[in-house]
Amino acid sequence: MDIFNPATETLITTIQEDTPASAHEKYERVRRSQPAWHQTPLSERIAAVAQFAELLSSQKDELAKTLTQEMGKPLNQSHNEIKGAAGRIQYFVENSEKWLAEEVVTEEEGLVEKIVYEPLGVIANISAWNYPYLVGVNVFVPALIAGNAVLYKPSEYTTLTGLKIGELFHQAGIPKDVFQVVTGGGEVGKALLNLPLDGYFFTGSNRTGQHIYEAVASRMVPCQMELGGKDPLYVPNDNANVAQVAQAAAEGAFYNNGQSCCAVERIYVHQAIYDEFLEAFTQEVQQFKLGNPEEDGVFIGPLARQEQIAVLEQQVQDALDKGAQLLTGGKKADRTGYYFEPTVLTEVNHQMQLMREESFGPVIGIQRVADDDEGIALMQDTDYGLTSAVYCDTQETAEEILAKIDSGSAYWNCCDRVSATLPWSGRKKSGFGSTLSYQGIRTFTQPKAYHLRSNHG
Ligand code: NAD
Repeated sequence: MDIFNPATETLITTIQEDTPASAHEKYERVRRSQPAWHQTPLSERIAAVAQFAELLSSQKDELAKTLTQEMGKPLNQSHNEIKGAAGRIQYFVENSEKWLAEEVVTEEEGLVEKIVYEPLGVIANISAWNYPYLVGVNVFVPALIAGNAVLYKPSEYTTLTGLKIGELFHQAGIPKDVFQVVTGGGEVGKALLNLPLDGYFFTGSNRTGQHIYEAVASRMVPCQMELGGKDPLYVPNDNANVAQVAQAAAEGAFYNNGQSCCAVERIYVHQAIYDEFLEAFTQEVQQFKLGNPEEDGVFIGPLARQEQIAVLEQQVQDALDKGAQLLTGGKKADRTGYYFEPTVLTEVNHQMQLMREESFGPVIGIQRVADDDEGIALMQDTDYGLTSAVYCDTQETAEEILAKIDSGSAYWNCCDRVSATLPWSGRKKSGFGSTLSYQGIRTFTQPKAYHLRSNHG
């Protein structure tokens, strides 16, 4: 498999990817080693994961460089991601004992009832490239702590990072055969679906998610889906500082080049403040520096995947054909690399793909609304349900609106944000099941209900 730098279109290296046969062989090894890992005391499993976080932190410069070179995010954003991953691991290190401990729920007259949280066994973690450390950590860290063995398939666009994660786990004391990296693209991912695993944890597009869910349905094992979004941000007429809101919204839409599952993908603004918002937003976007992501100050790097350029061009053209107005950007940047100019469109509506389908790039549509009712109706008019944001001065207004929106996360005066202490989950086409928080620890277990009588009944 050839690995290219999306900023320069040059070959970084070529690696030998896995085949269905080698994936099978890795599966047999993790299957054999899982029971002993489960028998390893929880405190030792946690200590190994904590050591992994230490290694991430101590090698962050080299790791950030590799990530930036293979997927194109600005170097400071790679640093942020690795730092964020180490922080997230800390949550699991500090909280797993509590949530994995056996629970005695009844103790009376010779009867003890208790719940023991057993691991699922061997799980597949099929992952995305946009935040390989963060979305990986959500799955493989609590899975390992809970006593599972993991077959980890990083995205083919972040293979080097995936291999590095494997190396660091092994260096940190996780036995080699408890965490195995399986490299390759969709075909190798498919091969994992044919293995008799005890759970499938997927982060990626809705299309692939649907394929996986269908392919493993007859196995009757847990299958969890963290998929894409079309996340709305609404600005009611309850804002003392519209320009500041516009800046925050622009950051939420364009951070990581718009390639975040919870990136702001569509914006609605109350008509009373619409013009002011639009001006401040466009100004902010026009000063984003586009360039080689290894250079200081660059905010917009290349897209990770060349084929996404055509998707964005198509969305922009479709919007323009249906009456949208282009305020800035709108096309591939005139330079080597998979760059797309940060793009703002207005006079948009829900007949346009731009407002309905995930863009996953530096493109945003901003729509004027007459009042909160129209804002809410448009936020709700989507097949997705990952996050929703409201920016306004009054918490009550925000909560009133957010309570009516069908999404897994609800933001007031923030967006594009994930917290280790809160469940991360999608609804509708954004998937199901939770990672993070105590729920995201228990996700990787199966409860065993003990009914224990000290007499013969
Ligand atoms: P993708 O669906 O193209 O690929 C994801 C993974 O699936 C990759 O490892 C890929 O090799 C593998 N794969 C592809 N075809 C497969 C098949 N037939 N069987 C098994 N595996 C297969 O997605 P992507 O481009 O890597 O990621 C971008 C998508 O992920 C976006 O939609 C984004 O919103 C979503 N995402 C969601 C979250 C979340 O937490 N909800 C987080 C990050 C990314």
